[in-house]
Amino acid sequence: MKIAVYPGSFDPVTYGHLDIIKRASFMFDEVIVAVMCNSAKTPLFTLDERVKMLEEAVSDLKNVKIESFSGLLIDYCRKMDIHIVIRGLRAITDFEYELQIAQTNKELSHNEVDTVFLTTSLKYSYLSSSVVKEIARYHGDVSPCVPDFIADILYSKYNKEN
Ligand code: ADP
Repeated sequence: MKIAVYPGSFDPVTYGHLDIIKRASFMFDEVIVAVMCNSAKTPLFTLDERVKMLEEAVSDLKNVKIESFSGLLIDYCRKMDIHIVIRGLRAITDFEYELQIAQTNKELSHNEVDTVFLTTSLKYSYLSSSVVKEIARYHGDVSPCVPDFIADILYSKYNKEN
């Protein structure tokens, strides 16, 4: 069985992530979306909130599971016996960073873990969780970026803050 892990912060999940998850779900028997809880970034949403939003957003994809992890990705891969990591590439600017991470994971895992890159669909290439949060913070329209239920959660989060 071919299992792949798609790690990220997903703070929150966007249509860009969902596009990658859907396409990966056609390529692999099982896709585990692994939400990082020790990112250097300070997330807007708790780990639990990010997991729940993802679960709802991918509920129609039967071979996709949502999990969370802390520590090194390769340790998580070893524990779960996974050898393929999926990452998305939006633009050439993502490439240098992603290449470094992919090579590090390959080295650290003694060639046990390889990374597969999926290029974003063009219509989502501008999308990032940070951009979505910035739009929502100032009450802009995030409907092209995230499912409606996530837009509602985002607006209510920022309303509470103000
Ligand atoms: P991280 O904090 O690891 O960058 P993200 O949740 O921001 O986590 O992104 C997870 C993965 O999804 C990364 O590989 C990133 O390049 C990819 N990604 C993010 N936004 C998009 C998008 N709009 N289209 C395709 N891939 C994307």
